Amino acid sequence: MVKLLVASNNKKKLGELERILADAGIEGVELLSLSAVPAYDEPVEDGRTFADNALIKARAGVANTGIATIADDSGIAVEELNGMPGVLSARWSGQHGNDQANNDLLLAQMSDVPDERRAAAFVSVCALVTPAGKEYVAEGRWPGTLLRAPQGENGFGYDPLFQPEGEQRSSAEMSPEEKNAVSHRGRALAQLTDIIAQLAAIN
Ligand code: IMP
Repeated sequence: MVKLLVASNNKKKLGELERILADAGIEGVELLSLSAVPAYDEPVEDGRTFADNALIKARAGVANTGIATIADDSGIAVEELNGMPGVLSARWSGQHGNDQANNDLLLAQMSDVPDERRAAAFVSVCALVTPAGKEYVAEGRWPGTLLRAPQGENGFGYDPLFQPEGEQRSSAEMSPEEKNAVSHRGRALAQLTDIIAQLAAIN
């Protein structure tokens, strides 16, 4: 059984990552969360891109535990804001992880922007790093538009403000199963399942 550390301290995001990987039905992989390994200092996420930050988190997992590690860096990219909040999504308001403050600020910034210029996408970059030093990176995008007021209670972060393309609901009104099947994170991880299966096969 090969061990795979899922390096995220965001409980909701961790839940999504674990469920998507479990649903992929890869045999011979034991998923571990950070609570299952000795605690280590989180690395500073000072990369300029989602890929940089995902690799920083995955490399830190391997360096501190010796276990193959997968990490996601993600956020919402609003076209009208030249792709921001982007890598700053978790701390857009200046308060790391304060979803309410982040959402309020983004809504206020976009309040005068007409409907036809509210295109946005959730983006996830997942990095998988092995103890042998192999590194794999995959990006998933989920296009949609930014709503004018929060809708729905599911999910986390900007979910209440995001209406996926082809949907009448926000992503916070979708069930976890519905969201995982089409989300940015689901799309990124889908590209890594073959590699994870290979890891399992050779261990
Ligand atoms: P990270 O944990 O540093 O990658 O920050 C991710 C941030 O992007 C989160 O705090 C959320 O604000 C936002 N985000 C990423 N994925 C999602 C999602 O699926 N729904 C809503 N917000 C998300």
